[in-house]
Amino acid sequence: MGEHTTGGLSVLSGSGLSARRFEVLAGRVARADGRAVGDNEIDVVAPATDERLGSVPACDETDVAAAVERAREAQADWAARPVEERTAILERFGDLVADRRDDLLDLLQVETGKARTTAVEEVLDVPNACSYYADVAPEALAEERRRGALPGVTTTHVSYDPVGVVGVISPWNYPLTLAVTDAIPALAAGNSVVLKPDEKTPFVALALAELLAEAGLPDGVFQVVTGEGPVVGPALVERVDHVAFTGSTETGRVVAEQAGRNLVGCSLELGGKNPLLVLDDADVERAAAGAAHACFANAGQLCLSIERIYVHESLYAEFLAAFVRETRGLTLGTDLDYAADVGTLASADQLERVECHVADAVETGASVVSGGRHRPDVAPYCYEPTILTDVDADSLVATEETFGPVVSVTPVADTEAAVAAANDSDYGLNASVWTGDRERGRAVARRIESGTVCVNDGYAAGWAALDAPKGGFGDSAVGHRHGVEGIDRYLQTRTVAASRVGLVKFPSGRGAGWVVDGAFTLLGLVRRLQRRLR
Ligand code: NAD
Repeated sequence: MGEHTTGGLSVLSGSGLSARRFEVLAGRVARADGRAVGDNEIDVVAPATDERLGSVPACDETDVAAAVERAREAQADWAARPVEERTAILERFGDLVADRRDDLLDLLQVETGKARTTAVEEVLDVPNACSYYADVAPEALAEERRRGALPGVTTTHVSYDPVGVVGVISPWNYPLTLAVTDAIPALAAGNSVVLKPDEKTPFVALALAELLAEAGLPDGVFQVVTGEGPVVGPALVERVDHVAFTGSTETGRVVAEQAGRNLVGCSLELGGKNPLLVLDDADVERAAAGAAHACFANAGQLCLSIERIYVHESLYAEFLAAFVRETRGLTLGTDLDYAADVGTLASADQLERVECHVADAVETGASVVSGGRHRPDVAPYCYEPTILTDVDADSLVATEETFGPVVSVTPVADTEAAVAAANDSDYGLNASVWTGDRERGRAVARRIESGTVCVNDGYAAGWAALDAPKGGFGDSAVGHRHGVEGIDRYLQTRTVAASRVGLVKFPSGRGAGWVVDGAFTLLGLVRRLQRRLR
């Protein structure tokens, strides 16, 4: 046990969780033959109280190699099953996640310190993703007929195969949804998956592995390797056929370099410094309530969190007053119920980063309009939702992702200035536009360099639109998750072109020029016809 507990109570009291449950989950970690739990372990701590929950093996390269080998062996049989059989198992998994939500919500809260209302967003995501990919996978994987080289002379078909073994590397901030929603399309496509969760949040990932097995997923098709990122991560990237990474831009560059060297695909979902624009026709009260949620859900530890707000100067004072009121109305807490709006930061490192950004902002001239205090009375790493004004454009809080409950509010002269300020960032993950006119909002959204832009919402409308790809501009992403694009990344294509007339080639020798001229005449006719039909 660490030094801090909530009033002397264990964080587990009131939950169905126990030390034994964590031991059972740790037993699910994929290890090389002959390695027992206990060789080399990593403690997992509850941020709400700083108490030790249990430990997981610190896997090494040998464990990762064995897991990938098992995954490769299991993959062929899995891929040979009809897609409907695979997605039926994933649908059962989605049902189990919904049925066991109380256990998963407890686990999520205990492992991350997040408020239950935020934890619910994660759990809801999983059954939805299962159903979405059950709907779209059969069509995405079906062989297609494409236009041939010479109409009537050749036929062309494209077939789609799974790439093989997919490595998923996930962060601690949304450890349930980000561990498995990238795995679901990979599995639907017939790949096997080896997941490396963040070392701070392995138990949620292991609980998902348990439910996938219960749903009927064959052994070896989904495995979890736990351990230090710089050890397990590269060992995994080295061996898989595609890597789906979610985490910081800094680590994403390391992963991309390694994937590039091995010539395997990678999809990277990285950091953000997300802007929210309040246009001159916005409903101020709605915008303020929306902003409070968009900035402070999950204590700001959300890649889509708003960290910069630009308000038309005519509404600035009114908006700021309403936003401060909304923010002060947020309840802090880490109990395993729905009482709190905002939980704690996840670690001492997170607290240090947030305090450093706020101190730097204040030193460079910013004012703290609300919050700005560490709240150890709530939890060891808890920090108040914080609003800053007059932030220097070169300060840390203006330029770097804080990844905490801190936002700057700045007045702007007009929409042009708001769009320019929003786009003045190396990142481009999420943005939000508030206006009384949705069409105008969509027009402004199209000018923002961001993978997702929500109009009159902070992030949920965009994130939960599973049929639409989620990517990012600039340093925020490579590739996409969600949508058909979210399954396409895990496929390799095979084009089969068949000739009805045997060898397709131009003749040589006498008369060849006539054939070439004829071919160009035919080509001209075909192109003219195509243009007319277009
Ligand atoms: P991180 O990059 O430190 O860690 C992410 C994962 O990478 C962890 O599992 C970690 O163990 C692993 N890792 C560490 N070193 C590695 C290496 N050398 N090779 C391979 N893997 C390695 O990120 P974090 O601090 O845990 O997460 C917060 C960041 O993630 C923020 O920047 C946030 O914006 C971003 N994020 C992005 C999205 C998105 O969808 N775009 C979602 C959530 C979080």
